[in-house]
Amino acid sequence: MSVKKVVLISGGAGFLGSHICDQLIAGGYRVVCLDNFLTGKKANIAHLLKNKDFAFIKQDVSVPFKVAGKVHYVMHCASPASPVDYYKYPVETMLVGSAGTYNMLELARARKAVFLLTSTSEVYGDPKVHPQTEDYWGNVNPIGPRSVYDEAKRYAEALTFAYRRTFKVDTRVVRIFNTYGPRMNINDGRVVPNFIYQALKGLPITIYGDGKQTRSFCYVSDEAAGILKLLFSTEPGPVNIGNPREFNMIEFAKIVLELTGGKSRLVYEPLPEDDPKQRKPNIALARAKLGWEPKVELREGLAKTIAWFRDNIGKD
Ligand code: UDP
Repeated sequence: MSVKKVVLISGGAGFLGSHICDQLIAGGYRVVCLDNFLTGKKANIAHLLKNKDFAFIKQDVSVPFKVAGKVHYVMHCASPASPVDYYKYPVETMLVGSAGTYNMLELARARKAVFLLTSTSEVYGDPKVHPQTEDYWGNVNPIGPRSVYDEAKRYAEALTFAYRRTFKVDTRVVRIFNTYGPRMNINDGRVVPNFIYQALKGLPITIYGDGKQTRSFCYVSDEAAGILKLLFSTEPGPVNIGNPREFNMIEFAKIVLELTGGKSRLVYEPLPEDDPKQRKPNIALARAKLGWEPKVELREGLAKTIAWFRDNIGKD
């Protein structure tokens, strides 16, 4: 009989989810991974499929489902997460944040398991507080194109806290900021895969708007480690997990060109509707409560990501 604790994770075949699975297996846990491959990929977990501590179930968690066996931790990581993906799958995004969160919370409640929701910096919308602290309530357009993601995650947070208050489920909420690294979908439309692809192929780098908008990029191993520190803590959150080094998109494009050796020119395209002007996490809470902070510098993480893209472009 295995004495290992069991972690059930939805979205485990996604970009971030698969790195969380890797860290859990390395840490001595059993992992039951659920994914419907809407934006996740079998290739992300192919290396785990023969591991005796890893089980995969193809499952859409927005519909009711049952899972046999012990479960000690439930992580709800499933959702389209790039703007292009959630514009393409608006209803699926709202359902996985609402019905999906409900189904995963019910499972945690029935098994008396710890529950973790992966929420997002998008709950802050186009923020009027900078850097963003967890006590900021946000500035979200409730009917704009991004609302399918932002409001789904806000609903998911509210539902998680309702279960905590009403049913005493032991919950955690993490707010994830922009994350990058190997296994990002090359065509998910986000700035990191777009710029790397364009630089490697000698295509023009597409800057949306004037390129002065900012983001703060966290390398995926740091992000996954922070999320797991929260899971295994007693802190309910919400806790921001992200890298506070802030760059504007022109600076970021120049770093990608420098690291790839690319010679692409920059071209300017319209800014997507409701695109947040600035984003940077305040991570004082994560530092104080979890003893976590990111370790990987942008250039180091980008070099690894570029190497992975060089090896994987065209393999889809
Ligand atoms: N962006 C850009 N060019 C691209 C893709 C994105 O300038 O080819 C910008 C986008 O407008 C946003 C930032 O990069 O301001 C980050 O976009 P992304 O889609 O990666 O994630 P977001 O933080 O908006 O969810």
